[in-house]
Amino acid sequence: MNKIPSVLFILCVAVSFAQDVPKTQNVILVTFDGYRWQEMFKGAQKKLIGNKKLVRDIPTLEKKYWADDAIARREKLTPFIWNTVAKQGSIIGERKHSSKMQVTNIHRFSYPGYSEIFSGWGNRKINSNDYPDNPNHTIWDFLQADASFKNKIVAVATWDAFPRIINTKRNGVPVYVNIKDTAGTCRSGNILLQGWDTKCPASNGFITEDSLTYHFAKEYIVKNHPRFAFIGFDETDEMAHEGKYDSYLNSANQLDGYMQDLWNFIQSDPQYKDNTTLIITCDHGRGHLGMNMWKHHGGLVFSSNKIWVAAIGAGIKSQGVLKKGHFYQKQIAATITKLFGKKFSDEQKIGKPIDAILN
Ligand SMILES: [Zn+2]
Repeated sequence: MNKIPSVLFILCVAVSFAQDVPKTQNVILVTFDGYRWQEMFKGAQKKLIGNKKLVRDIPTLEKKYWADDAIARREKLTPFIWNTVAKQGSIIGERKHSSKMQVTNIHRFSYPGYSEIFSGWGNRKINSNDYPDNPNHTIWDFLQADASFKNKIVAVATWDAFPRIINTKRNGVPVYVNIKDTAGTCRSGNILLQGWDTKCPASNGFITEDSLTYHFAKEYIVKNHPRFAFIGFDETDEMAHEGKYDSYLNSANQLDGYMQDLWNFIQSDPQYKDNTTLIITCDHGRGHLGMNMWKHHGGLVFSSNKIWVAAIGAGIKSQGVLKKGHFYQKQIAATITKLFGKKFSDEQKIGKPIDAILN
């Protein structure tokens, strides 16, 4: 072999190696169902927090979440996002800076949104939350087929549609949902978590399903150290549909606290510290204009295609809120696999990784 080909060979190896270098070892993906970009970036909204029909105790809620300045308001509502993720990670979707993120599916509700997150494209045929098993190829299928993820992926969620959305029948991914029986008694699914039901905090004044989901998920993560875990919360959406703005804000605040707790664990755990990425996003937005449109979302609800994403940890740029760029929900799947040093798909319809947030 003469000299030039060996140099070329080394260069080629170097280039292909560079493309495959994992940026992280572990990814935890979390969704706050239907949590609006408006509260995410501007905190509690005056017209809603001061409305007696939507809030039972306005002075108490205002004391908790109100400030005249939008920056102070958002820090009161979701302090982990703004004091930690915004300082050490990347956040997309603050529209006043022209940093845009939106869903591409036309339906703008949950199943199509989660399917777009997991499969990298918006399949218009997926047009119902009751849709049967997901026909799309997803990152769940992709990772489950990879030996380095064997027994190392899991989903825990409040909403019982996730076994269909993930299509656990096809790929065998463990999906834990609705960790409560119909009588409201805590149960632990298939793993033993003795005493875990007594650990659920009651920050909304009652034990919520999302709190069960979180504590179940955390315990699973602590014990099993999955490389890819999904935690799907639901109450922000439920409370908004019910028109309870106080509970909607309290739910968002509670979820933010769980993210703080999870991040504290990640950064204190020898297996996860400094090699784990936390990505938080939502499945759809909600309406914007008009007093009641905040409750709703869907194909005909203006603005409910607008979403956001916040990410922190291994492989994520420490740059705070992006000031420009237009991004899509369909890019999340390939972003996750790129973090793992893997290419999800070459298909044109699959969204490209969000390189703007990757190191
Ligand atoms: Zn939803």
